[in-house]
Amino acid sequence: MSLQIETDVPLRAFNTFGVDATAHRFVRVRSARDVRLVVDHPELGRAPKFILGGGSNLLLTRDVEAVVVKVDIAGLRVLEDDARSTLIEVGAGESWHGVVEWALDQGYAGLENLALIPGTAGAAPVQNIGAYGLELSDRLESVDVVDFVTGRSATLPAAHCRLGYRDSVFKRELAGKSLITAIRLRLPKPWVPVTGYADVARWLQRQHCTEPTPRAVFDAVCAIRRSKLPDPSQLGNAGSFFKNPVVNRTIRNEILEEYPDIVSYPLEDGTYKLAAAWMIAACGWKGQSRGGAAVHEKQPLVLVNRGGATGAEILALAQAVQASVEEKFGLRLEPEPVIV
Ligand SMILES: Cc1cc2nc3c(=O)[nH]c(=O)nc-3n(C[C@H](O)[C@H](O)[C@H](O)COP(=O)(O)OP(=O)(O)OC[C@H]3O[C@@H](n4cnc5c(N)ncnc54)[C@H](O)[C@@H]3O)c2cc1C
Repeated sequence: MSLQIETDVPLRAFNTFGVDATAHRFVRVRSARDVRLVVDHPELGRAPKFILGGGSNLLLTRDVEAVVVKVDIAGLRVLEDDARSTLIEVGAGESWHGVVEWALDQGYAGLENLALIPGTAGAAPVQNIGAYGLELSDRLESVDVVDFVTGRSATLPAAHCRLGYRDSVFKRELAGKSLITAIRLRLPKPWVPVTGYADVARWLQRQHCTEPTPRAVFDAVCAIRRSKLPDPSQLGNAGSFFKNPVVNRTIRNEILEEYPDIVSYPLEDGTYKLAAAWMIAACGWKGQSRGGAAVHEKQPLVLVNRGGATGAEILALAQAVQASVEEKFGLRLEPEPVIV
């Protein structure tokens, strides 16, 4: 089938902030072959492109001039299953949470801490999604990509994706240059529960669950997330709007001296992750709004669209939050979503 190029497509339903913007040209890809058709297309081939998954890590501040390539590539299958691990291959357009649920239903454990993260499987490596003590990098085996210039397909082993804290090569050198068409996840056996995260441990304790099953960890993560994070179908948002700043011991100690209550976590390399939510709340932003854009009252790391906010208004609020955190703590918060 040939490509269908749609014009002037409203994007409100395609971003979880629910802001208005228009794609001048919009094309859906359902296979790696479709991606190659885009590359070879006389009109689209040379034009700049913007890859769109579920729009859950995206702030649109204007109409999109680039060709929007919407990833609808399906597919879910087990490639290997032996005593040591299970290897699963997932099409980039599959819902991430759907993959976690499917794996659990099939008896393949190991993804449950990443339950309820919105968006597509293909976008998961882009910011190395993570939550409740687990990151995609703990499970990613490899990624299939199609190059937007040459149209060539390649398989990148996880090590080549340079996955870091909410970061990867797809946010840097390969941003907008390579479309991820499929990912492979390796789930090690025997399954070891990841329950070190305080909220998860507390939830399991309250359920008197001393030997958690994968389903119990999944239920814990879903319950915690539902109690803390706004549902984008009810209140537009893109999850955490800022990354937690990572600083060296000297800076952390200086800040700690002035703000002894600040929440920080030691990392393996000797640096510290500071809780951006704590800093934003300390600047008095919890529940504050600017027009339809607001800082969520329960989780100040999340900016929300209370209704009718434009992307530019949400960005202005984000910049005001950044400025006060910088003034108080001397640290510049880095946004997590992609801003267009
Ligand atoms: C309520 C809520 C909670 C969230 N919680 C978490 C969380 O706990 N942890 C976490 O890490 N994130 C979280 N997020 C952020 C978001 O869900 C993830 O970053 C998710 O992986 C984004 O997927 P998406 O398909 O919506 O990507 P999009 O928003 O569509 O795209 C994000 C970026 O990835 C690029 N991209 C998308 N698909 C592809 C592809 N196939 N190939 C190449 N590039 C691509 C896009 O061009 C864009 O730059 C949350 C978001 C919300 C709304």
